[in-house]
Amino acid sequence: MTVTAVRGALLSFADDPFLVGAEASRHYWPDGGMVIEEGRITSIGDWRDVSATLPAGAQITDYSGHLILPGFIDAHVHYAQMEVIAAFGTQLLEWLEKYTFPAEQKFSDPAHARLIAELFLGQLLENGVTTAGVFCTSSPVSVDQFFAAADGLGLRMIAGKVLMDRNAPASLRDTAQGGYDESKALIDRWHGKGRLLYGITPRFAITSTEEQLELAGALAREAPDTFIQSHVSENRAEIETVRRLFPQHRSYTEVYAHYGLLRERAVYAHGVWLDEEELRQFHEAGAIIAHCPTSNTFIGSGLLDLNAVQKAGRPVKLAIGTDVGGGTSFSIFKTLGESYKVMQLQGHVLSALRAFYLATLGGARALGLEADIGSLDAGSEADFCVIDPGATPLMKFRMEQCESVEDQLFVLMTLGDERNVVATWAGGRCLHQRPAAA
Ligand SMILES: [Zn+2]
Repeated sequence: MTVTAVRGALLSFADDPFLVGAEASRHYWPDGGMVIEEGRITSIGDWRDVSATLPAGAQITDYSGHLILPGFIDAHVHYAQMEVIAAFGTQLLEWLEKYTFPAEQKFSDPAHARLIAELFLGQLLENGVTTAGVFCTSSPVSVDQFFAAADGLGLRMIAGKVLMDRNAPASLRDTAQGGYDESKALIDRWHGKGRLLYGITPRFAITSTEEQLELAGALAREAPDTFIQSHVSENRAEIETVRRLFPQHRSYTEVYAHYGLLRERAVYAHGVWLDEEELRQFHEAGAIIAHCPTSNTFIGSGLLDLNAVQKAGRPVKLAIGTDVGGGTSFSIFKTLGESYKVMQLQGHVLSALRAFYLATLGGARALGLEADIGSLDAGSEADFCVIDPGATPLMKFRMEQCESVEDQLFVLMTLGDERNVVATWAGGRCLHQRPAAA
């Protein structure tokens, strides 16, 4: 059995800095080491101690001078929307019609789906992302190809077939029963295979009939350890449309709750305009909001107040999403930087520790996956990214002024991007290595 050891500055979270304060929230080893066996971290500590325990023949990778963080978690992203990233000039409902639906129609072709799945996973790894909640399209082909590509890399991924039986082009619409049957077959095929997890994925209330939502809820009850992924309360016109389509329900959230789609492991992107009662429903159900700040600003949806989401007494589970193609970057640094600006515009600050917590252990806890991912604790799957804080001349110069790892993290989330990601490991294997500078 190969024993692998990795050396570098190690940072991992123990708890939520928003609740317990900075000091108690993190573990930091400026010269640390991790031992990896059979895809999992088996010990972590100061390099001096860890290196003394290594057996002869252990393979050592030395990342001294770099910062090692748990692999990032992107809780909401659409792989079929790669080609519509940076599409000009529209808000949600028109953006779907004009850009997204035409792009998604190509994914019934397995060769196209596989090509984009591989490009997409390459982008995630280049940005240090090792787990994502991924929307495929309504074609089961898009799901098979995505999962096959992710399985080939040994990644822990959540994905699912989009359920959509109205208000979309005919070529993308399924039927309530057909969508149920296809999802069920995909769950049997992929959920729990390797590190893969299935997400039952009604796109949003507007594109599903009541019958389809009913059957999605039935599926969620039949397979309670699957995820649910959808969108909620993103944009004003969308909320108005939901109100018109579901006049019998008090709120957008109530539509999902009514059909049994608000539960633990149910991840809803955005939630920008949720009212107090809806946030309480999220809290009580244990459902999750995926905050997607670059999408919310780019398509003009609105500003989510993270403090309101995590209000004491009824905190709602929270994770971070890029929401590409509505979002404008696969970079978690850029996404956290945008979140900081979104909070500033509402008169709040977002600390770097809280931001990075949400992209690692916080996201893992929200998803109920903290036993496997989100930290560098012994026992965790060895998913991590290696960060060069001084990847550009400006960042190198700026980092010299930093007095703590928290300062460094804040500069990273303000200036950083994929150039800072030296390597990304998943399941104890290095899957991405930044090309050496020319
Ligand atoms: Zn989305």
